[in-house]
Amino acid sequence: PSQFVKEFDTPAYKGKVTVNTGVFINNEWRDGSDNTTIDLINPTNGQAYAKISEGTAKDVDLAVEAAQKAFDTTWGLKTPGLARGELMWKLAFAMEEIQDELAALEVLDNGKTFKDAKSIDVAAAIGCIKYYAGWADKNMGQQIETHEGKFAYTRHEPIGVVGQIIPWNFPLLMWSWKIGPALATGNVIVMKPSELTPLSALRCCDLIKKVGFPPGVINVVTGYGQTVGNAISTHMKIDKVAFTGSTLVGRKIMEGAAKSNLKKVTLELGGKSPNIIFDDADIDTAVGWASHGIYWNHGQACCAGSRIFVQEGIYDKFLTAFAKKAQSIQIGDPFGPETEQGPQVSEMQYDRIMDYISSGKEEGATVHTGGERHGSEGYFIKPTIFTDTHPDMRIVKEEIFGPVGVVIKFKDVADMVRQANDTVYGLAAAIFTKDLNTAIETGHALKAGTVWINCINNLDPSVPFGGFKQSGIGRELGQYALANYTNVKAVHVNLSMPI
Ligand code: NAD
Repeated sequence: PSQFVKEFDTPAYKGKVTVNTGVFINNEWRDGSDNTTIDLINPTNGQAYAKISEGTAKDVDLAVEAAQKAFDTTWGLKTPGLARGELMWKLAFAMEEIQDELAALEVLDNGKTFKDAKSIDVAAAIGCIKYYAGWADKNMGQQIETHEGKFAYTRHEPIGVVGQIIPWNFPLLMWSWKIGPALATGNVIVMKPSELTPLSALRCCDLIKKVGFPPGVINVVTGYGQTVGNAISTHMKIDKVAFTGSTLVGRKIMEGAAKSNLKKVTLELGGKSPNIIFDDADIDTAVGWASHGIYWNHGQACCAGSRIFVQEGIYDKFLTAFAKKAQSIQIGDPFGPETEQGPQVSEMQYDRIMDYISSGKEEGATVHTGGERHGSEGYFIKPTIFTDTHPDMRIVKEEIFGPVGVVIKFKDVADMVRQANDTVYGLAAAIFTKDLNTAIETGHALKAGTVWINCINNLDPSVPFGGFKQSGIGRELGQYALANYTNVKAVHVNLSMPI
């Protein structure tokens, strides 16, 4: 199978990187079974820079076979939790050794800045693997008192072969959120990275082999959603599927599961999260976080604070400062040391976002700042703020997944809460206020899986993350995620019970 070799010579990173670009099955590299490839496109300039193998349903079959064999012979209940955890720690340390390399691959594939890729994506991915390494020998069942003649207990057994389908917005971080709890609980994995951003996951396959994971424990099949993704969600021998991506595809995953073997499904989908700024909020704090809320990762975050509700007493002051902040964001080469915003991930995403911007203009909203392309090549979009919106506008209702926020003035708190909850999504929400009662009462009234108070888009591997309503099913991260990857078995032992 072929390799992608690149000598990086950028202000942020200099060095040679070699990535195997085949499918990774049973700790071995091979070409996709049809011998076809997918071009990777650099979002900074629209140029193709690498080819990866295009996997097929047949490759998924081979991966499932290898995974099942590992589960039956070397992993699962055959490897004690402590030993699984040790391998995971080794993987985390091996990632630390090449953290700059991994960051550079994220930048190349995704267009995010090197600074963020290294300090957020790669650092948090490593943190997540370490966090779950610690759980590997601590996920235990219960011994339950029933009556004297009976001994009852539960076991938390691994599910077996799990399929994991991840998106392009945080390629390595989503890889870690998926493999962390799955490995800690003893499962074996068939992973499909996004066809847009596979290089970091492929680079980590070499680390998986190097640190000593038995063959077949982690298999990676690159390819398209309709083929490889579909083969995973409909596979009769995959017992669980975890997916992060669009709500549209999330539905297809559930359908695939329902039509095949009723595999267990967890979904982490989209959002249209409210970010609520009360009159008594500290303006500078609120502006800084609100900007991070919608412009971080170029707005390509499922929890982005895209509907910014501002109370009327502070509205004008906030809007002026927020626009100034948006205009100050340095857009450019994601490897540049000063750059704060790179390109959107792909031409398709660029077109989709520009279409939303046009729809906002056509429906009568005001572009307060931005609203247009930046530069003449690549997929750059200026940080955008819309005002004078109406609840029925597409830009207010739908997930844009780009650097486009709507700022909405509110007076009455109850009415604002009703508007904030008036969405099919329920992933996250944020509140800025100095008043403890306002913060907690509003937080409890919002229908969202995460509520941030005086911060936004701030995560920790030990705290669960996931959505209410159509934002998803199940929780990732924290102790909660372990339940996604275990079957609870109840054992009743008769000591002295009569019939
Ligand atoms: P997507 O949902 O199509 O892609 C996510 C993953 O699913 C990719 O690996 C893709 O190959 C795979 N996939 C696609 N079709 C599939 C199918 N039929 N069966 C199985 N797997 C399939 O996302 P996208 O098209 O790249 O982006 C579209 C929108 O999705 C974005 O604009 C955004 O709104 C949303 N999105 C959300 C997240 C998130 O973190 N919640 C991440 C990425 C995209």
